[in-house]
Amino acid sequence: MIGWQKALILWLQGKVDILEYHEVHVRSASQSFQLPSVLRLRKFIHRKYAQQVRFSRPNIYLRDDHTCQYCAKKFPTKELTLDHVMPVSRGGQHTWDNVVAACGKCNNKKGNRTPSEARMPLLRTPAKPKWLPYNELGLKKNSTPDIWVDYLPHGVVWN
Ligand SMILES: [Zn+2]
Repeated sequence: MIGWQKALILWLQGKVDILEYHEVHVRSASQSFQLPSVLRLRKFIHRKYAQQVRFSRPNIYLRDDHTCQYCAKKFPTKELTLDHVMPVSRGGQHTWDNVVAACGKCNNKKGNRTPSEARMPLLRTPAKPKWLPYNELGLKKNSTPDIWVDYLPHGVVWN
């Protein structure tokens, strides 16, 4: 989210289109502006970089929907752990395609084995997500204006 002053500057510079307005006007000496509420960037700046999803514990949990990838049950964050599909001690990497959310019980049970050795098949094959999660956008679900919903990426679910 950006402040209205910055938004107006970007608009005056031709860098954004205004898609929706607030019901509020601001006045300068000579002009009146209606405050924009939804902007569209004309160009994606550093698109590649912006779309990188950071590898982190919260993002793994988000990707896996807080669901243990072995027993398929949902857990609160504090009961989840990160499991290395191929254990680190056996050369497994700390990467998107080798790390999944697992409950403590399943993680213990699996121990130093691969899913097939432990006979604990994965719910789905882990991969790097293509979406950018809320926390990477600096958004909080409940503080996101309703008006943005139509413009946010597909598949985003709102409470
Ligand atoms: Zn589990």
